[in-house]
Amino acid sequence: MPPMSSPTLVNLSSLIDDAKCYELVRQHRWPEGIRCPRCGDAKVARDGRDDAQPHRQRYRCPACGARFDDLTGTALAGHHQPLRVWVLCLYLMGLNLSNRQIAQELDLGMSDAQAMAEALRHGLTAKLPPVVLEGEVEIDEVYVVAGHKGNAAEVAKRGVRVAGDG
Ligand SMILES: [Zn+2]
Repeated sequence: MPPMSSPTLVNLSSLIDDAKCYELVRQHRWPEGIRCPRCGDAKVARDGRDDAQPHRQRYRCPACGARFDDLTGTALAGHHQPLRVWVLCLYLMGLNLSNRQIAQELDLGMSDAQAMAEALRHGLTAKLPPVVLEGEVEIDEVYVVAGHKGNAAEVAKRGVRVAGDG
């Protein structure tokens, strides 16, 4: 038995549904439908699932031949943490937990937690395919906080700054 290192009684991560996490990413990334990250075409074909992550949908773009999946081109793609850990990290950030607390809750190293929080401050899927970011470029931490409440567009439109120390 591992020692109780945190006051948490449940392992949050084990309660999270991977399918819903990928759904969330798709909604953030393609609110108006899936588009090819290379050419921007909207006529994209499904092309099977990821071998290791069955909820991670693959796509193929008939227009330009690009192959991509739900995470391709996002900040989430280059990291080894499962998607649900990212989603939880975002959730805990919304509760204003420190990086240290997040690391503890999610059983991560401090440097991992810091890198993830930093990436998430730019938005769950941000990493800049120009098509995806259209109209969202100015949103920084507001996007994270507001997105958490499912209200990103409204908040962004009004230019409200939600997060910050002062
Ligand atoms: Zn394409």
